[in-house]
Amino acid sequence: MIKENLNEVKEKIKRACERAGRSYDDVTLIAVSKTKPVEAVREAMEWGMMEFGENKVQELTFKYEQLPKSIHWHLIGHLQRNKVKYIIGKTSLIHSVDSYRLAEEIHKEGQKHSLQVPVLIQVNAANEESKFGISMEECIPLIEKTAKLEYVSIKGLMTIAPFVENPEDNRQYFKQLKQLSVDIKTKNIDNVSMDFLSMGMTGDYEVAVEEGATHIRVGTGIFGERDYSQMN
Ligand SMILES: *Cc1c(COP(=O)(O)O)cnc(C)c1O
Repeated sequence: MIKENLNEVKEKIKRACERAGRSYDDVTLIAVSKTKPVEAVREAMEWGMMEFGENKVQELTFKYEQLPKSIHWHLIGHLQRNKVKYIIGKTSLIHSVDSYRLAEEIHKEGQKHSLQVPVLIQVNAANEESKFGISMEECIPLIEKTAKLEYVSIKGLMTIAPFVENPEDNRQYFKQLKQLSVDIKTKNIDNVSMDFLSMGMTGDYEVAVEEGATHIRVGTGIFGERDYSQMN
């Protein structure tokens, strides 16, 4: 099933790229394996996947230990400052930096290990109460401040769009995030690149790719529905 799902998702990404005149190679598909067993990750690896996303530190570190170190792990969920120490050196990208205090903690831990930690700034594009992330307005000031932290390397922006029936409803937010990243890029801030734009999930990744996503985070579309009743 994972194989067929992966093929379908990749096919849809390709077609979205064609519609937008983009190169398929510019889009990284992250398989969101949260709540799924390590066997599911292994199976996806057999079909060529190397990028996996987790939203909890504990689950990421558990799978990190169980699975080949060649995997690129993406932390896509909210990160508490006291948990930064557990994931330093284990993530290829932290998608969820949403405060200066969190960035400072990452800097501190990065410095300890002499590691420059690649991160994205999480923006709550639709200003939803229930979601983490900073507002569009707070984004540039936060980036300007965070850019001075030597061991934090800002690579771009991330957003979690609202849950909608019609993915077209999220196009506006993807457009806004893309525009914001262009605005930031033109500022040429030292230690900041805006090469990455992490947006789009199972319900809306095609629209996100059309609007310039470089990283899409797909869980259900690859691994099937999640069963939270098994989790503690
Ligand atoms: C769970 C999750 C996803 C994947 O969601 P699906 O709808 O299953 O594709 C993507 N991004 C974040 C931040 C998530 O927590």
